[in-house]
Amino acid sequence: MPRQCWAASLGGCNRISGEHVIPRAVLEASGQRSVSTEGLARMPTGTVGTSAMTANILCNHHNSLLSPLDETLAALQRWQVAMGKPGAQHELRLHGPRLERAVLKLFLGTLASGWGAAAPTLRQFDLEVVRSVFGTTPVPMGCGLSVGHNTWNSRQRSMEVAVSTLNSSMADGTVQPQCVVVVLNGLPLLFSTSPTLLADIRSFKPKVDFGQGLALDLAAMEFQYHPSTFICDMNGQNYRLLLDWPT
Ligand SMILES: [Zn+2]
Repeated sequence: MPRQCWAASLGGCNRISGEHVIPRAVLEASGQRSVSTEGLARMPTGTVGTSAMTANILCNHHNSLLSPLDETLAALQRWQVAMGKPGAQHELRLHGPRLERAVLKLFLGTLASGWGAAAPTLRQFDLEVVRSVFGTTPVPMGCGLSVGHNTWNSRQRSMEVAVSTLNSSMADGTVQPQCVVVVLNGLPLLFSTSPTLLADIRSFKPKVDFGQGLALDLAAMEFQYHPSTFICDMNGQNYRLLLDWPT
């Protein structure tokens, strides 16, 4: 398999990096050397070492340009891991478009690495999609990030990192990934490529399969598109995630 940077259409590539499909900073946010993962085809479900989770899908240049996105996801993960512990911050404010781009980067990484359990492997993407990750083209209105209400039961909440895609079968027989659902410590983040996806989810009630028999009903999760405030209730304590969406 040729090693190729998925951002090659932007030009300026240098040496391919050992990119983490799930950002290393996210994996390390819990302060452990391994994480519990589900929904990655090339990884055993269960606990895996963080050093094992690399794929040759981005060059060093493009990888380093995107490190602020990884840090945004890591900040969210660290905040969640600290919940309920002494000194935990009850509020986290993030830049919404940056979090959105971070989830899109993870989506493309999952597809480029072939790690998505049910998704096709795609090596290259439309230039506009790649530019969206780098913030030079806006994510089309109605597409992008939605956040799910916290409907996890205790077992699901134990998932530290879970990734799955929802795919459509096209008339020509190909499978087209429509969205990714990334679950960080029980918080579902969905990136949609279609403005009608949330309405479709309510109508068709699809399930996403995270492996190990764990399939989640997306309709039951009540995703909110571009929410500004997300309140997580944990052991009677409120934790507020604030997302800024500049107009
Ligand atoms: Zn590159």
